[in-house]
Amino acid sequence: MLGQMQDWPLLVHKLIDHAALYHGDREVVTRSVEGPIHRTNYRQIHGRAKRIAKALDRRGFQLGDRIGTLAWNTWRHLETWYGIAGIGAVYHTLNPRLFPEQLVYIANHAEDRALFFDITFADIVAKIAPKIPSIKLYVAMTDREHLPKADIPNLVAYEDLIAEGDDDFTWKDFDENTACGLCYTSGTTGNPKGVLYSHRSNVLHGFIAGQADAMGLRNVDSILPVVPMFHANAWALAFAAPMTGAKLVMPGAKLDGPSICELLTTEKVTMTAAVPTVWLAALQYLEQSGTMLPHLKRVLIGGSACPRSMIETFEKKYGVQVVHAWGMTEMSPLGTLGTLKVGMDELPYEKQLDYKCKQGHAPFGVEMKIVNDENDELPRDGKAFGRLKVRGPCIAKGYFRGEGKDAFDEDDWFDTGDVATLDAQGYMTITDRAKDVIKSGGEWISTIEIENLAVGHPAVAEAAVIGVRHPKWDERPLLVIVLKKDQNATKEDLLKYLTGRIAKWWMPDDVVFVDEIPHTATGKIQKIILRQRFGDYRLPTIAAE
Ligand code: ADP
Repeated sequence: MLGQMQDWPLLVHKLIDHAALYHGDREVVTRSVEGPIHRTNYRQIHGRAKRIAKALDRRGFQLGDRIGTLAWNTWRHLETWYGIAGIGAVYHTLNPRLFPEQLVYIANHAEDRALFFDITFADIVAKIAPKIPSIKLYVAMTDREHLPKADIPNLVAYEDLIAEGDDDFTWKDFDENTACGLCYTSGTTGNPKGVLYSHRSNVLHGFIAGQADAMGLRNVDSILPVVPMFHANAWALAFAAPMTGAKLVMPGAKLDGPSICELLTTEKVTMTAAVPTVWLAALQYLEQSGTMLPHLKRVLIGGSACPRSMIETFEKKYGVQVVHAWGMTEMSPLGTLGTLKVGMDELPYEKQLDYKCKQGHAPFGVEMKIVNDENDELPRDGKAFGRLKVRGPCIAKGYFRGEGKDAFDEDDWFDTGDVATLDAQGYMTITDRAKDVIKSGGEWISTIEIENLAVGHPAVAEAAVIGVRHPKWDERPLLVIVLKKDQNATKEDLLKYLTGRIAKWWMPDDVVFVDEIPHTATGKIQKIILRQRFGDYRLPTIAAE
């Protein structure tokens, strides 16, 4: 017997209908790519998204067409997403931090039919356009006055597209499992792989994100997603904010410490989200300028492990609650969030910090388990660690065009490629990426844990640990350090700092100082490059053997 409830498909454009109807005056503020601060609201965004949908529909774009966006977080990018979704086409976010050849590969793999881009990227677009034959329309997300001079075929200004018709358009009707968005993972090994979100998964993920023990989003919030829309859906915020009618503050192209901190203050931001590297820069700026954060209540930090010292600084010095989160493009992306559970807020602060440093617990809709090399499930005791597998309604069941099949098993468990522990309370701790873990004398050393401790040293700006060849132990840890400007520390200082904080056999065999640590397009430490650079590094401990 079937239930007798309405079949109301979970479609993404219903979110902007809702926001326009019930929270129409709520502001969406952007630091525009052209420069000035731009203000609009959900009602206007809804109307303009319909105009985009109408213009695309009139040009023959339809259900299933992939439409690329190469754009910052702005109100126009938001309108574009909803306009594309509303005709059943698929928004495909391209990460502008990738090399042009990678963009060409991805756009061709996706067979994008149109590309919406910010004027910042006009030169890149001119360069790649001849190599992507499937793209028939280029839309510069600006007005005619700012239309780039670069040589781009079939180019129109976004505002001309908007002005072309009116907002009298009925969203197309289709099944909630219809493809809605496409995002390629950066693919540190092999080619990038496409993750194809459905309307249903995006809407469900929005519900999950907003929950009190997840991001805890409310109508009264003013939300600044520093995390770009091209990085795994801006971690749900482009859907979850309209769902609650929270104010949105979009940072545009300026993601540096001073620009972000200025918006946090002027727009009275209460909740924000970004990767740790953004906050490293922002916290340094706050420290130097003596600026405080009077309005900010919560910051979501994920994408890479959040160092303990960062959580402590935000919470103790600025009174801002940190929610450490873990996720993946393949998971929409939220997997776990580190809010405290019952009774934990009564623990001494250092114990609370222990929990906050973990990657968090799973919201409803994310199943997790850890397994050994034989795929046997390991105990949830906080000690055993193994490969982390996940499944749920907002998690990919395969990659676009059937690539990377090995990551998925017949029961839909997706192998995250992360190594983790799970504890009895449900908290998950990532110890490493499987490919970054250091195998020393048959035992595993967690590079993340050493890195997080090392950045706690007052002179350290950033730290990375990689495994270096060792004749006796196979691999031993090498600590790579970037010092803060005008600060000094020696190898001995750092090793002394780590002593007693990690097991003796985890102690790095050497420390090297560099000017910069390379990052991926989504802000992660690029260990592959470091391993190449220090591939032949001879550890001093070898001579001593
Ligand atoms: P990409 O691989 O394209 O950079 P993702 O953002 O999907 O993009 O990367 C997901 C990976 O990032 C995870 O599998 C994990 O290794 C790492 N990661 C994400 N959040 C955290 C976190 N809080 N702590 C440690 N690692 C994290």
